[in-house]
Amino acid sequence: MSIASALQEIKSQLPDTVELIAVSKTKPVALLEEAYDAGQRHFGENKVQEMAEKYEALPKDIAWHMIGHVQTNKIKYMAAFVHLVHGVDRLKVLHELNKQAKKVDRTIDCTLQVHIAQEETKFGFDANELAEVVAALETFTHVRVRGLMGMATFTDNQDQIRSEFMTLKAAFDTHGATREWDVLSMGMSGDYQIAVECGATHVRIGSSIFGARNY
Ligand SMILES: *Cc1c(COP(=O)(O)O)cnc(C)c1O
Repeated sequence: MSIASALQEIKSQLPDTVELIAVSKTKPVALLEEAYDAGQRHFGENKVQEMAEKYEALPKDIAWHMIGHVQTNKIKYMAAFVHLVHGVDRLKVLHELNKQAKKVDRTIDCTLQVHIAQEETKFGFDANELAEVVAALETFTHVRVRGLMGMATFTDNQDQIRSEFMTLKAAFDTHGATREWDVLSMGMSGDYQIAVECGATHVRIGSSIFGARNY
């Protein structure tokens, strides 16, 4: 399937209110151009350097989403252009985002990553940590938290995936209602339909658009 028809097919299944982020990590610029020519404007990358190179090479009306684990020493390379940083999983990241955003006279939008999967390996705050971080957000003058991000367990068990997404949605409602949060980033190629049913506003889809990745 071509990239254009894959995008078309996925979009036909998404409500208009859900933002499709095309996850282009590891993929060459030529494939991103194909998606761009098909109208795609939101792209997701998980490495700052790769994202910065693609930003330089591609049209400037693209919205770049950092969806990976954030290394604080790399934040300065994306502060001037990143659209939304999804994987904020430590206070240290908020401090550094705030500092670098101030330097370039911007406010950087982000989501807090919550650990909802059973796997140990996935990053994110647990419920208690999340409450603490949310309570401290006022101190960050140049960072705007817009909601939450999470990844479900990699499993065929749809009930488990659904229950993990519902946990994230509940946290989003608890903390977000009074703060006017508007981003709930959840769902990938294998589970985005469930994520949308559970209230996702942003889905991050890679392999169903660009094909499997060879790392
Ligand atoms: C790679 C990645 C995706 C996209 O995964 P696919 O299964 O290829 O759709 C989504 N979110 C995050 C955080 C990722 O690292």
